[in-house]
Amino acid sequence: MSDLKAIDRQYVANTYARFPVELVSGKGSLVYDETGKEYIDMGSGIGVTAFGLADEIWKQAVTEQLGKLQHMSNLYYTEPCARLAQLLCQRTGMKKVFFCNSGAEANECIIKAARKYAAEKKGPEHTTIVTLENSFHGRTLTTLAATGQDHYHELFQPLTPGFVHAPAGDLEALKAIALENKAAGVLIECIQGEGGVNCLSGDFIRGVEAFCKAEDILFMVDEVQTGNGRTGKLYAYQNFGVEPDLVSTAKGLGGGLPLGAALLGEKAEFVLGSGDHGSTFGGNPVCCAGAISVLERLDEDFLAEVQRKGALARAALEGAEGIEAVTGLGLMIGIKPAHKAAGDVVKACIEDGVLCLTAKDKIRLLPALNIPEELLLKAIEVVKAHCA
Ligand SMILES: *Cc1c(COP(=O)(O)O)cnc(C)c1O
Repeated sequence: MSDLKAIDRQYVANTYARFPVELVSGKGSLVYDETGKEYIDMGSGIGVTAFGLADEIWKQAVTEQLGKLQHMSNLYYTEPCARLAQLLCQRTGMKKVFFCNSGAEANECIIKAARKYAAEKKGPEHTTIVTLENSFHGRTLTTLAATGQDHYHELFQPLTPGFVHAPAGDLEALKAIALENKAAGVLIECIQGEGGVNCLSGDFIRGVEAFCKAEDILFMVDEVQTGNGRTGKLYAYQNFGVEPDLVSTAKGLGGGLPLGAALLGEKAEFVLGSGDHGSTFGGNPVCCAGAISVLERLDEDFLAEVQRKGALARAALEGAEGIEAVTGLGLMIGIKPAHKAAGDVVKACIEDGVLCLTAKDKIRLLPALNIPEELLLKAIEVVKAHCA
């Protein structure tokens, strides 16, 4: 083991089962380890580096801002924060944005907004947030409570109360659970990412929206992983013709710098008032400058390319030997191997210079949205070879 790996193992908390690879630099969708070995990056830092590594346009936006003002408190106005909020609202029809630093924090914010809306509108007993079984919403004690996977909960009790889980895809069960528990909001991922790249059906998503509107329960969508162009639309919910009241996002938004956002729709526009929420680093000008450059490039032509490349990848994978199922949307791709464990396939791919992710029993691909077609198909051939 190299010195660095030994130091990391000794001093960094053991929360991550790292692969035995030390990465030192990258360009676009290629990344290099300390020996100079090249890898195709099919994970992009778990869907974070939307335009790949060391992208020139992103780098310029970030470094320009870095030279002007790297941080200022939220007591003052700064341009990147205001402009990014404007851009997000213009592109989604949402009304206001709260900035934070991560997906979990974005979810914390929309949970607070839903609770306050319901407390004021319907009474203080309307506090419950309904989420789905097999969901993932983050690692804080509140977002863990929201996460519908028991194995994350063990030994961390008590979690924040006020969360119940409904079976994904069963609309009638969800309605009953929401009414019985006096729900303030229903929070879903349109595609469950960590849960195994499982797409919810459009009928279910639209059914949840209609039910929430009818009952004045806030319809909340977690777009932390699916957002910012990943599925071939700016936000995944836009594939289904729904309009959430609250949206959380992070991961790809900053293009590689920590940035989360909670988008508040018309109902919740004025719910959070002065002093109701805050974040020291939230809306950091450098992160926001990077995010503006990301969002500005995610225009209709570019998103159509994401859809096209996603379809190309799917066509190459579907029906291939050793592949049981291909799931997801756009460049969010789940691959269920027929005979092998996903983790073993990912390890074998690393040997062959391809970095992939797993999600439950699937291999998960979240390449940079601008990955060149040749690299995408080359990486997919390696994955296919190790599934066969
Ligand atoms: C990654 C993820 C989160 C948590 O984001 P962090 O930035 O790690 O806090 C929340 N929800 C979903 C759907 C995610 O994929």
